[in-house]
Amino acid sequence: MELGAHWIHGPSQGNPVFQLAAEFGLLGEKELSAENQQVETGGHVALPSMSRTSSGTSVSLELVTEMASLFHELIDQTREFLNESETPVASVGEFLKKEISQQVANWTEDEDTKKLKLAILNTFFNIECCVSGTHSMDLVALAPFGEYTVLPGLDCTLAGYGPQPCQRCPSCPGRGTRPEKGGRKGRGPERAGGYQGLTNGILDSLPKDTMVFDKPVKTIHWNGSFQEADFPGETFPVLVECEDGTRLPAHHVIVTVPLGFLKEHQDTFFEPPLPDKKAEAIRKLGFGTNNKIFLEFEEPFWEPDCQFIQVVWEDSSPYRTQPSRPRTPGSRSSLDFWSCLLRSSHVLCGFIAGLESEFMETLSDEEVLLSLTQVLRRMTGNPQLPAAKSVRRSRWYSAPYTRGSYSYVAVGSTGDDLDLMAQPLPADGTGTQDSRYSLLGKPHIGHFILPRTGPSCLAGEKLIASLVCGTHRGSSPGPGCELVT
Ligand SMILES: Cc1cc2nc3c(=O)[nH]c(=O)nc-3n(C[C@H](O)[C@H](O)[C@H](O)COP(=O)(O)OP(=O)(O)OC[C@H]3O[C@@H](n4cnc5c(N)ncnc54)[C@H](O)[C@@H]3O)c2cc1C
Repeated sequence: MELGAHWIHGPSQGNPVFQLAAEFGLLGEKELSAENQQVETGGHVALPSMSRTSSGTSVSLELVTEMASLFHELIDQTREFLNESETPVASVGEFLKKEISQQVANWTEDEDTKKLKLAILNTFFNIECCVSGTHSMDLVALAPFGEYTVLPGLDCTLAGYGPQPCQRCPSCPGRGTRPEKGGRKGRGPERAGGYQGLTNGILDSLPKDTMVFDKPVKTIHWNGSFQEADFPGETFPVLVECEDGTRLPAHHVIVTVPLGFLKEHQDTFFEPPLPDKKAEAIRKLGFGTNNKIFLEFEEPFWEPDCQFIQVVWEDSSPYRTQPSRPRTPGSRSSLDFWSCLLRSSHVLCGFIAGLESEFMETLSDEEVLLSLTQVLRRMTGNPQLPAAKSVRRSRWYSAPYTRGSYSYVAVGSTGDDLDLMAQPLPADGTGTQDSRYSLLGKPHIGHFILPRTGPSCLAGEKLIASLVCGTHRGSSPGPGCELVT
């Protein structure tokens, strides 16, 4: 069960996650096919298989398609503001609403249909909030929104087939055991599926015991000259102090902790504090919450070919200000976007973003289950619908080392803030080649699209390559490996 990342978005040759997954044998014939890699989705979420209002009325898929086209067209138009020094409004949300209001003026249907169309549009706003990890699209800056790059390829998931050695390093243990190309058939014993297969693959390609787990870092002391008894005669520019008191001296440090953690702890996490510009970028960039709620049913109540179920919240509208704190998890968007998981026939996965999501984390499993069962019963028009037999959900906001799900370029920040985060320190060039280190990585942005100049996963690939190749050749990442994430 994937509580975090689930899909490879834009699975094609330009995507290092796709490349690694392919190397590790985690993709099947269909996912690897040229046809799949060429599909242009534009980054838009697929249309629902079924749409119902929160009171149980079936919504015409024709109407849903019409509203989806309008919404996606407007999202595409946000690209026009790329590199504009001034935009008519500050946020994506304001832009979308302004454009929609012009359209509404031309709608000729009766009032009920107009209200329904606005409610459908509101579901697309909610989905976009899930994609951007924000409470409201009014918080997401308009000009940099077009900087995202959408890679071609039809989103896919990872399966667990192996064994798969690293294909980059000739000395990789197990090289040669890679099953023949061309899909899952005939592959080795099945192992962890999902994204864990990817991290397992990376881990397998590293020498044993290279990775240390469950070792939270308390403070990174940098720009110093540290000497440790275990390394007599050696001086280190960085000392990583862990919560359990362990001290790890280092020549290079790459920090890839989530922006949410940095927002909360940057004052104590770095010693000396980060330069003002980096500190300011951390404060200005947005970081929000998107959670998943899985419901396991005894029997599915949906059709076998159903992929996504859309719940249209009656009387909702993009123009209605959302309460800053909902009273119950079902009050706005708990069920704004449902998908029947592709690999499971009896589990529903709902997405919930923003303050509602953070509020949901404060509730017990029983409360969440009860609330969602009520909504599902209303939505299906079946008051006898059996409750799900179990619930499992993520709590990314409460997680102390995450404090949210992912970042976005908030109103008041720009794409330059992302680049600033990725710049190595010390910035004054005082670090010699051997002591060069990077103190901040680029925060990952959303989960759908890649940021402009240096996508975090693209730069991450550079990092993986440098670490994997460096260590496999029996050396620590040396001057040849620029440590920037
Ligand atoms: C609900 C959800 C759905 C998503 N869906 C997708 C998807 O379908 N496809 C996709 O591509 N992406 C998706 N993403 C985004 C994806 O998960 C992230 O882009 C990716 O995990 C970022 O990797 P990272 O290594 O940069 O950061 P993280 O995965 O956040 O890793 C950072 C690590 O730092 C650790 N850490 C924090 N503080 C400390 C400390 N003080 N000391 C030591 N360690 C610390 C954390 O515990 C964590 O393990 C999703 C994310 C969420 C939350």
